[in-house]
Amino acid sequence: MSVLVTDQNAAATATIETAVSDNPEALAAGGVLTIDLAALRANYQIISKAISPTRAAAVVKADAYGLGADKVAPQFYAAGCRDFFVAHLSEALKLQPHIGKDAVIYVLNGLQPRTEKLCADSNIVPVLNSLEQVRNWVDLSRSLNRKLPALLQLDTGMSRLGLSEQELQELLANLSLLEAIDVKFIISHLAAGDNVQSPQNHAQLERLQAALKLLPHYAVAFSNSGGSFMEHNYHFDLARPGIALYGGAPQENRPNPMQPVVSLQVRVIQCRTVPANTLVGYGGSYETKAETRIATIAVGYADGWPRHLSNKGSAWYGDVRLPVIGRVSMDSITLDVSALPEGTLKLGSLVELIGPHQTLEQVAQEAGTISYEILTSLGNRYHRIYINDILA
Ligand SMILES: *Cc1c(COP(=O)(O)O)cnc(C)c1O
Repeated sequence: MSVLVTDQNAAATATIETAVSDNPEALAAGGVLTIDLAALRANYQIISKAISPTRAAAVVKADAYGLGADKVAPQFYAAGCRDFFVAHLSEALKLQPHIGKDAVIYVLNGLQPRTEKLCADSNIVPVLNSLEQVRNWVDLSRSLNRKLPALLQLDTGMSRLGLSEQELQELLANLSLLEAIDVKFIISHLAAGDNVQSPQNHAQLERLQAALKLLPHYAVAFSNSGGSFMEHNYHFDLARPGIALYGGAPQENRPNPMQPVVSLQVRVIQCRTVPANTLVGYGGSYETKAETRIATIAVGYADGWPRHLSNKGSAWYGDVRLPVIGRVSMDSITLDVSALPEGTLKLGSLVELIGPHQTLEQVAQEAGTISYEILTSLGNRYHRIYINDILA
């Protein structure tokens, strides 16, 4: 049997191979993670267009979903983004030097006690998630004789962060608290934004609208990636997309309108041919049925490749699918490469794990998880290449 490897992905892999072939650092790593900065900027534009005239922020928490906030955020800034969301104050402080001074950084996880002064001095805007946090921010505002900026989060049905119904009532009875601070946006978060069919979306929208009627007029930020592709009444003044910017599908069971950002190529570290009835990998969980050519590649669960893809996932070489056989180890995976002509793969060859043949979403689905988890788990052992840098 012989399979011709001719398609354009082989060309893409060859391009990456050429790009890294004289780079000792790239050759010393187990794989090459390519991050397309043009695709990031294009995705920001796609979302901006979908929600226009609503403004789009960029959620760059968890090191920009694992892709490197210091590299990624400036691209969004260059694309016109001026609102950046992170989870922790520590992330905000790290991000600040990498974007323009006219950009605002918001901290989703809220205001930790004894960080109020640091937050205010650094011009970082906290999301106030409880009445206790409102009071702490008000106290500092009053002592500085300055209305400190903040976002106010309402829990509209996720029971995770934000003022409860009861806390909102208490706040409404103490409106002077809101007069002491500068509320830039009321925010809330969709629990099922990735599923347009979920009745939870509309229920949350209604709860938000009811709360807004009781409050003084403020701008509103509600939608995540999923919500950004729902009807315009979900968009309000500012959207907070994350995953879609990074190429993930904003909504499940719908075509993905985003451009792929990440591709992953991994090195072959050994090839062998074994006879039928040979056990492969930890626990001998796979036994060959016939003579099998095996390639071992340099990626494992320590690189965020899910162990759940043992005997399940695959890699690709050109158009040829190479199934994983045996368990995913910490630093390596074994592939059945019998479908390729002998000698096609050699020590140092690259195979595709995320790319045109196997999207991020497909990997996530096969692993029983979501694209968010795949991205944020990728780890730092890969050699990273950032392509199409508008700022370089
Ligand atoms: C993570 C997060 C987002 C971004 O969500 P995506 O689904 O990645 O678009 C927006 N808002 C809040 C509060 C978040 O925690």
